Amino acid sequence: KEGGRDGFRFFGVEMDESIARRRELDADLRIALETGEGLYVAYQPKLSSRGNRIVGLEALVRWTHPRHGPLAPDAFIPVAEESGLIDQLGEWVLREACRVARKWPGLSVAVNVSPVQFRGTDMALRIHKIVYEAGVSPRQIELEVTEGILVEDDEEVRGAIQHLRAAGFRIALDDFGTGYSSLSYLKKFTVDRIKIDKSFVKRLGQEPEAIAIVQAVIALGHAMALSVTAEGVETSEQERLLQTAGCNELQGFLFAPALLEAELAEWLERPFQ
Ligand code: C2E
Ligand code: CA
Ligand code: CA
Ligand code: CA
Repeated sequence: KEGGRDGFRFFGVEMDESIARRRELDADLRIALETGEGLYVAYQPKLSSRGNRIVGLEALVRWTHPRHGPLAPDAFIPVAEESGLIDQLGEWVLREACRVARKWPGLSVAVNVSPVQFRGTDMALRIHKIVYEAGVSPRQIELEVTEGILVEDDEEVRGAIQHLRAAGFRIALDDFGTGYSSLSYLKKFTVDRIKIDKSFVKRLGQEPEAIAIVQAVIALGHAMALSVTAEGVETSEQERLLQTAGCNELQGFLFAPALLEAELAEWLERPFQ
């Protein structure tokens, strides 16, 4: 009978399955990166809080697996980080993002950089080279990093961030407030922007103290001369509260989800509402 299995054995079976699945995903992702099949990048608009003008895009990778169908990045990014494929995947996303940046010179394009990519010593140089070869100004490219970079070697990471900022790239701290060391990385690295995590935005309008937290984060950012973006804006009430608190940029399903390039072109041409 099914229920007769003991917990330990069951755990063992699960582990084997997950290892096999990771191996499979890794092998398939390797092929996808070689052929370009099934991989693409979607772009989510970022709006200025005042006037709701589009100011930029965030590049978000998508993968339609040949047998399993569309997979969320959370399902394959960790696999790529573990196997080291993330370097190649990250560079591919950056090249795609540069192509789109050339198409819309008035928009900044943000690209997510995994903490694992910071392990390569020449990471800043490689990013710089890709953007240079694409004929895009680093000023148009923003790199989003999470506090996971803090577990990497301090001096290396600091050097890489300094190199990138000196070259003109903007650096944004993603998922701000979710980890243990959001404040300590503000002290360690000079950055340009913080992105308030969507978990805080979600609580706006649900819990009264959420407004106080968001106001404090925005005030902190402004006191450090940083621009502040809120992600995950889904309601007009959240929009209004964030505008009142002085948040600089808004991003979320209220305005647009991540769009395919063709959808983006259409979205940009829509009449002003
Ligand atoms: P993230 O960088 O925090 O990206 C924001 C996520 O929130 C995206 O999910 C986006 O589609 C989603 N989102 C946007 N607006 C809303 C909203 O109003 N409500 C809600 N509930 N969600 C919203 P996605 O595309 O599934 O990406 C998940 C994570 O995967 C990203 O989180 C990022 O950490 C990672 N990721 C995505 N693309 C890349 C990439 O090219 N490289 C790396 N290293 N990581 C990536
Ligand atoms: Ca991000
Ligand atoms: Ca985020
Ligand atoms: Ca995230």
